[in-house]
Amino acid sequence: MSKYQRFIRDIPLNCQIEVTNRCNLNCGMCNREKLFTKEELTKDMDLQRFKEIIERIPEIPWINLGGRGEPLLHPDIFLMIDFCKTHKKRGYITTNGFLLNKDMIKRLVDSGIDRVEVSLEYIKSHNNPNAHPFDKRVIEYIIYLAKIRKNGLPHLRLQVTLHKDNMVHIFQIIDFARENNITSINIQRLNLISSNNLKRPDVSSEYEFYRKAHLYSKRNRVDLTTNLSLYGKSLPNRFTQSEIDFIISNNLCVELFDNIYVNMLGDVTPCCLLPKYSVGNLYNEDMDSI
Ligand code: SF4
Repeated sequence: MSKYQRFIRDIPLNCQIEVTNRCNLNCGMCNREKLFTKEELTKDMDLQRFKEIIERIPEIPWINLGGRGEPLLHPDIFLMIDFCKTHKKRGYITTNGFLLNKDMIKRLVDSGIDRVEVSLEYIKSHNNPNAHPFDKRVIEYIIYLAKIRKNGLPHLRLQVTLHKDNMVHIFQIIDFARENNITSINIQRLNLISSNNLKRPDVSSEYEFYRKAHLYSKRNRVDLTTNLSLYGKSLPNRFTQSEIDFIISNNLCVELFDNIYVNMLGDVTPCCLLPKYSVGNLYNEDMDSI
């Protein structure tokens, strides 16, 4: 057994299912056009196929309904959430927020979905063509969702991609979270594959940023996590200390340990950025054989 296998879980904790690869936006940082052909960028997963996948992964507790696309564009997204609930799965979506409105938010709350994540890099207008565009209605709807939740459900998390230009703005996002009882922020490292124009902070600035952001979020009682293993203090708390030590000392990506990605064709890969590394197909095989 390799030193890596020792830490990879027998059953993944999370299964991310690409319910659509369509999107209503076209952010400069997005890698969809790098990963799909033009014809492929128009597809929704069939509801029946989605159900087959869920039935083939009875032991995986968490389902992320979405991947390289905007999940709220899928016409059957609420039927998919409902199917997850009836199969005792914990479900969540990550949305860019541009399709939110009061009706949609009420439906999400009533659907019983466990978590809604909204992508947000700035809380005011900006000139960064690579980030999600700014629309103040997204901010208003996040506040609305935070208010009308029932007993704090669904959990609300802000998904922030770290650019060179928005490091300072993230402290404002932490303030915004505190003011609106949003207790969770996840910071993603900017992936550079989609364009040469992307600007990521250098590693030492990134590290310094995390050190400060971690302290600031702690003071503000906001749980701040990151996929950047370099800054281990903010790794998600689902990892044990020995796993964290191993991840940091080997400078590894955390996603590979307990996550799988299922694309539109049923192919299973370790994450959305590794489309060529298929280890099986959930339209034809059970999880056990994969
Ligand atoms: S919202 Fe997400 S999926 Fe859509 S273009 Fe932007 S980064 Fe890509």
